Amino acid sequence: MLLSHLPRVQLVHAPTPLEFLPNLTKALNGPQIYIKRDDATGLATGGNKTRKLEFLIGDALAKGATHVLTQGATQSNHVRQTIAAANKFGLKASVLLEQRVSDGTDEYYNNGNLLLDEILGATSIEVVPGGTDMVAALEAKAKELELQGERPYIIPGGGSNAIGALGYVSTAIELINQLNQIQLAPIHLVHATGSTGTQAGLLAGIAATHSNLTVLGISVRAEKSKQEENVYKLTRATLEHLGLSADLIAREKVIANSDYVGDGYGIPTDSMVEAVELLARTEGILLDPVYSGKGFAGLVDLIRQGHFTKDDKVIFLHTGGAVGLFGYRKTFSNKDAYRL
Ligand SMILES: *Cc1c(COP(=O)(O)O)cnc(C)c1O
Repeated sequence: MLLSHLPRVQLVHAPTPLEFLPNLTKALNGPQIYIKRDDATGLATGGNKTRKLEFLIGDALAKGATHVLTQGATQSNHVRQTIAAANKFGLKASVLLEQRVSDGTDEYYNNGNLLLDEILGATSIEVVPGGTDMVAALEAKAKELELQGERPYIIPGGGSNAIGALGYVSTAIELINQLNQIQLAPIHLVHATGSTGTQAGLLAGIAATHSNLTVLGISVRAEKSKQEENVYKLTRATLEHLGLSADLIAREKVIANSDYVGDGYGIPTDSMVEAVELLARTEGILLDPVYSGKGFAGLVDLIRQGHFTKDDKVIFLHTGGAVGLFGYRKTFSNKDAYRL
């Protein structure tokens, strides 16, 4: 499948590694577990949004934009990667942060991604209350910038539209090539799903290439039926954007599991803490508290429940975000300090 006619910039250190996890596989005594390292995409500590930004920044430049606008939660990985990508291509960046988590610690509101946002130097960082209509807020901000003579380009939350999802169409092709090289089957792909672009792009790429790979999204926010409907819609829109039939995606291939959200978006769960520590202590790999930690907690629990056979090969797509750990220090460590 050709993506070469679509505007794109180069950001990702591709292909990201596909690695076997021998110690974790042994510890869980279930299927063979692999990891696709999209935490290592390379832009300002990496993550999955960099995949989408290759196409979003490409489109912004093709349209003559001078200024990108986006939004996310306080500890948004997407916002951090968007500012970095804008810097690299000489675009200004303004961001709106929704205070979706209201009872975080001081570190949540100052450290982690937010510290990096400041170092990266966005043109403006504005915080708005949780529950704000972020789509309307971005449009209002774009109007304001237009009056100042800017040519704004709106990137939706999480970079999840039919353009951003192309980043994961391209990742599906990259992964399929890696699987063919090492002759790995049958395959189940598992990852954290939020604003849906990652899962929709993967499903569009897998459907368009008629590949035999299942995808399971572990939701970090919405309940199952809503998440599946949103992923399904964006998968169809992405296929159409590629000039393909939206009907290539069968509704039953869109599967989300919302059993690991806990009390809500960005609120820690015991299983997330256990999952972060488990992968760190078996394989030396760091997950994040909001997305990949909950996604991995879902995978670990499903393996323990016998959801996969011993012959199955499971790939966890690591979507990044470990710098978010610095916003959640007290969730992982009660120590005051090691200073003498
Ligand atoms: C945004 C994000 C996700 C979710 O991806 P979507 O495309 O928004 O569904 C998963 N993991 C991390 C670390 C993220 O930042």
